[in-house]
Amino acid sequence: MTKADIVSELFLDFNRDPYKNKSLVEHYVKRLADCDIVVLERVINELSNERDILPRCRDILSKCTAYKRKTETFENDEDCELCGNVGRIKGVFVGKTMVSSLNFLPEGDYCYAAIIGRCSCEAGNNWGSSTPFAEPSKMLYAYSKGKDMDCSLGAQFLVTEINRRKIECEQKAENNTSQSTQELREGLPF
Ligand SMILES: [Zn+2]
Repeated sequence: MTKADIVSELFLDFNRDPYKNKSLVEHYVKRLADCDIVVLERVINELSNERDILPRCRDILSKCTAYKRKTETFENDEDCELCGNVGRIKGVFVGKTMVSSLNFLPEGDYCYAAIIGRCSCEAGNNWGSSTPFAEPSKMLYAYSKGKDMDCSLGAQFLVTEINRRKIECEQKAENNTSQSTQELREGLPF
């Protein structure tokens, strides 16, 4: 997960299209260059839950500075297939609704992955007790298992896959419209 991914998710959380706001996303990534990526992810997750409007760079920066990284870290002895050893569980969303079908095709909004809670494994202890325990959805678990990935990585892949399908479907619809207009013109008797 890169900072650009984290910022893109933040935008999607506030219903802002990161593809259309690419330069703003890049601005955020540049401003947040010095933030520790683990701290940044936690801070952004908290801000997403607290706020109704997209937080500004300086809100994020000041929260990152205030956040003292815990000295104690918990690690897994064995790889965790639920969280990929990062300790947090992700869900795939459109708007505020969790996607529960692999064939889901969103209209309007893009899909995004968001943290829904902490994992029950050892690494989950790196997340504060204010974060509730969670499990990946059955759909995401089956999808990730099929791709031989942990569910955290699986969530990212599924988001990309659904959004790509959505874009392809929209392009196909556009092409069909222009084609039928063309046919209509050609078919005119004068
Ligand atoms: Zn885990």
